[in-house]
Amino acid sequence: MKLEGIHHVTCITGDAPGNVDFYARLLGLRLVKKTVNQDDPTVYHLFYADENGSSGADITFFEYPHARRGRAGAGMVHRVVWRVASEPALDFWERRLGEAGVTTGRADKSLGFTDPEGLDLELAVVETTDEPLVASHPDISAELALQGFDSVRAYTADPGRSRPLLEQTLAFEPQATDCYKVRGERRGSFYCYDEPPAEPGVGGAGTVHHVAWASPPDDHEAWQQRVARAGARPTPIIDRFYFKSIYFREPSGVLFEIATIGPGFATDEPREHLGERLSLPPDFEHLRAQVEPLLTPLPNPRG
Ligand code: ZN
Repeated sequence: MKLEGIHHVTCITGDAPGNVDFYARLLGLRLVKKTVNQDDPTVYHLFYADENGSSGADITFFEYPHARRGRAGAGMVHRVVWRVASEPALDFWERRLGEAGVTTGRADKSLGFTDPEGLDLELAVVETTDEPLVASHPDISAELALQGFDSVRAYTADPGRSRPLLEQTLAFEPQATDCYKVRGERRGSFYCYDEPPAEPGVGGAGTVHHVAWASPPDDHEAWQQRVARAGARPTPIIDRFYFKSIYFREPSGVLFEIATIGPGFATDEPREHLGERLSLPPDFEHLRAQVEPLLTPLPNPRG
């Protein structure tokens, strides 16, 4: 049993309109689902991904309007890395982000920057045969576009603590320098650790809430049992309507989810209109009249 790399990365924003502008307009991702946080249906859960809303390309945000800025620390993911195809793609992004007033740092085969709320992001040129997961955007050709996740990086002072769970239970494959490969039959990505800053982390706008790993649907129940047997205390399987999920903390403190690949975002609206209207899973539909007026109005990035 193998996990198929990153399924999605979920973060926090205090500014949904600014978030849509940055991820959909500037970075060129597709807003594939506009729904509510199922654990707090008065706030948005926004999903950005490739054209099809694929797992492996899906960065999501809970909106807590006007939330104060957080700060990544030990036990938190602090950086999200996407793949791009080439050095010319990095040139393009360096120029596009620079023109938008975003400070970038170019390194060998990578470009680092932060989103408007301070979340650390990186584009990296990597060798891979994985299918590029690309969204359509009028100003960004497919060769230059973001192609899905390469990795997430988390802070821990003691990577050894997480080693048994990651290697023996989750079948992550150790690489050099505190990185693990997480690869299934179809797709893969990396999970890496860095030395944490001295100050403790604080959740809030611009921080990562959790990272989800992708499971073929048929393996999901077995993953839940395996994580439970390892003593990592997973939640029961929760039906998130667009996928099924379990959650647990790995020993370094990072909140992990294992989510099924599918049924996906086209289960309740047509593929060509993903993300345009507020989607509420059946159990939440009765709340529409109450919650819709409470939510921050958002532009349709393709309108
Ligand atoms: Zn999640």
